Amino acid sequence: MIIYPYDKRRMPSTELQELIKELRPEEPREFDDSGPIAMWTEKDVSRGRVVDAFVLILRTRGCYWALHSGCTMCGYINDARMEPVSAENLRNQMEKAMERYNGEKVVKIFTSGSFLDPNEIPFDVQAEILGSFEGAERLIVESLPEFVIEKRLRELYQENLEIAIGLESADDEVLEKNINKSFRVKDYINASEVLKKLKIPLKTYVLLKPPFLTEKEAIEDAVNSILFASRYSSEISLNPINIQNFTLVHHLWRRREYRAPWLWSVVEVLKRAKPRIGDVRLVSWPTAGGMERGAHNCGRCDKRVMGSIEEFSLSQNLNALEGLYCMCIEKWRDTLELSGLNRFVFR
Ligand code: SF4
Ligand SMILES: [Zn+2]
Repeated sequence: MIIYPYDKRRMPSTELQELIKELRPEEPREFDDSGPIAMWTEKDVSRGRVVDAFVLILRTRGCYWALHSGCTMCGYINDARMEPVSAENLRNQMEKAMERYNGEKVVKIFTSGSFLDPNEIPFDVQAEILGSFEGAERLIVESLPEFVIEKRLRELYQENLEIAIGLESADDEVLEKNINKSFRVKDYINASEVLKKLKIPLKTYVLLKPPFLTEKEAIEDAVNSILFASRYSSEISLNPINIQNFTLVHHLWRRREYRAPWLWSVVEVLKRAKPRIGDVRLVSWPTAGGMERGAHNCGRCDKRVMGSIEEFSLSQNLNALEGLYCMCIEKWRDTLELSGLNRFVFR
């Protein structure tokens, strides 16, 4: 096991990549191949109103980058097959999904990787899957910018299609040294230009609190990244880190060298960024919010703050975030004040 000194805040990427790989479980997991990884219904917005959204997570070979090394916070590899999944298997998964699909207006299809990567989903199967949801108002799939290729997207195009890209940060140094992302900001810009040309809306994910940033630095990085991404996106989702097993972030958390972001930081980023991005929608649905592994406060106010973040995400009305208070906000303020001077991790 490579042990690095905590005050060496940014590691050279090869060292980082070695550590990420070392933290993986040695034995591959057993999988139930009989259907998709998960399916559920949640609320989202389409054409200005709150509607039901169908979320489908297909099991594929997994993210090519995770197979290489992967991002410091990403545990998706735990759900991936790590070997090719046949077209037949994917079609079976889709059959199960269509049995559950109930005509929801918004459909989100995730793969623990890139929907557009032909090594995860063969190109003809990609087209079949998208075609199954032609009746939805919004059909969102995720991809790394590497797979946003004009010629292919022209063939896949349908009016309801939206592409989501996890930019995470608009700072190349953070992408390289804190997240170990496979691409750089210029690749995101190139992909966004292809999408603009094809009139395919872009949804961008911005990460809150990559490892090795203080709470305060993380807030600044997220605000700057949202302002940057708003030039290219129709919607931005602020994703506070949640701690997933076998990741670098999990390793740091167990050593008490990482705390998931405060919900106060989520509120702060939304309040600072929203007035500066015009009509671009800004949302946040903190995974494991209010729990120790997700963005959380003191435990007493988490439910209320989460409720306000959800209300803001659905309404885009900043009033939803006004008037929130709990004693723990003082501790959060202290964290911001002290975190540059003292590496102590408040819990
Ligand atoms: S965050 Fe995305 S790009 Fe990074 S390893 Fe996970 S699935 Fe791949
Ligand atoms: Zn509190």
